Amino acid sequence: MTGAYGYCPRCGGLGISRERRLNGNDRCENGHSYPSMSAVANPLLPVSADLPVLVAEVERLRSINDDYLLEMGRQHALLRDQKRGENAERAAVVAALRRFEPGPMGLSLVDMASVADAIERGDHRRKEEE
Ligand SMILES: [Zn+2]
Repeated sequence: MTGAYGYCPRCGGLGISRERRLNGNDRCENGHSYPSMSAVANPLLPVSADLPVLVAEVERLRSINDDYLLEMGRQHALLRDQKRGENAERAAVVAALRRFEPGPMGLSLVDMASVADAIERGDHRRKEEE
């Protein structure tokens, strides 16, 4: 059962209890209380650890953070691209509707210009969402 709750982020002590609620706290063997989410998987390195070991640990933690930030950046870029693609698609539809020529009878059942205006305003989306 060693390390079932991870270790204290303050002193590296073994976590000995965990509150059974959302955003609850853990308590370590030295009496510190801290959010369960911040419990660490490995005990903190002792202050006496060799410098190369400490440097390696700092690099490891930094790479986790960088990877996370990189992934967040990718997600944002992806969302932005999707948004841009959607706008281009809408502009193409609007342009096509504006080019629409009434048939030989000079009549059309739908006023294409007003449909194009509505799409450009995004009104079609509001209807879909209702
Ligand atoms: Zn502690």
